[in-house]
Amino acid sequence: MRIAVASGKGGTGKTTVATSLALSLAADSAQVGSASNPPLFLDCDVEAPNAHLFLKPTFERRQEVGLLIPHVDEAKCTHCGKCAEVCQYHAIAVLGKKVLVFPQLCHGCGSCTLICPEGAISEVPDVMGMLEGGTTASGIAFARGVMNVGEPMATPVIRQLKKWAVPRPDQIVIMDAPPGTSCPVVESVRGADFLLLVTEPTPFGLHDLKLAVQVGRELSIPMGVVVNRDGIGDHGVDDFCETEGLPILMRIPFERAIAEGVAQGKPLVDIHPEYMAQFQQMLMRIAKGVSSSAADITSDKSNPLFEVTVLDFKRKLTQKQIP
Ligand code: SF4
Ligand code: SF4
Repeated sequence: MRIAVASGKGGTGKTTVATSLALSLAADSAQVGSASNPPLFLDCDVEAPNAHLFLKPTFERRQEVGLLIPHVDEAKCTHCGKCAEVCQYHAIAVLGKKVLVFPQLCHGCGSCTLICPEGAISEVPDVMGMLEGGTTASGIAFARGVMNVGEPMATPVIRQLKKWAVPRPDQIVIMDAPPGTSCPVVESVRGADFLLLVTEPTPFGLHDLKLAVQVGRELSIPMGVVVNRDGIGDHGVDDFCETEGLPILMRIPFERAIAEGVAQGKPLVDIHPEYMAQFQQMLMRIAKGVSSSAADITSDKSNPLFEVTVLDFKRKLTQKQIP
């Protein structure tokens, strides 16, 4: 089972949730379904990876990552322009008697190499960053990508990270996605069995949650929501989740001790160990929900994920009735 943790914007507590989810699973002696613990954790936020600050892995292996980009042998080139015509990304241009390659735009598709009638193009590696893998003290297999400064494309690094860090057949994978809803997020959550969306109950949080939900729907991934900093803001996120049939799986209160602890690099379950049981229960609900179809999750009232929505809805009604 692959669980992607994402949010429509940065700073919502996505990594706080993802890392405590992994720690709670690693500490859970009662296995989730047929899964074996601990999980594999992938930090897909390759432009600004920070999950290692909370999980503190020891890195044991590293590998450079990048793309094969074209190199033109000017002696063979006849400047026919076919390479520039075939490139969908405008990464190669023929200007008079000169062929220019723009590595920052190249997607490494190899089309120009294939089409060149003179065999003037060869492929050379362009290193974009590093993949690093290791293990944490609690046995979590940890892997992350780290992009070189100035590299514009995160997607190839994320794609190769997901291929490089291979889970055991029965191992749960937790993927910490980058913030936002752009291509790196889509690449991170693609193939996930469940998308856990972390948001905050504010108009900004709601706006970006809506965008993230659209991504999940486009990819047909079942979703659930964690409301972080619960207690600030308004009921907009609750109302949206209720209308859209999105289960709210957990609420983390707005609390100074949590903010201070997270700022010091402490996982949430270290700050408040009682949250571990909540994360473990959430994992059980997700595992049961994943075994149902996405449609079942929002329409089947016997589904444990739906139960949470109903409970939250009742709780909100109760809150509204309080004068
Ligand atoms: S396709 Fe080959 S021969 Fe034609 S311009 Fe490009 S590199 Fe030169
Ligand atoms: S490898 Fe693909 S993206 Fe890169 S220059 Fe050639 S055709 Fe363009």
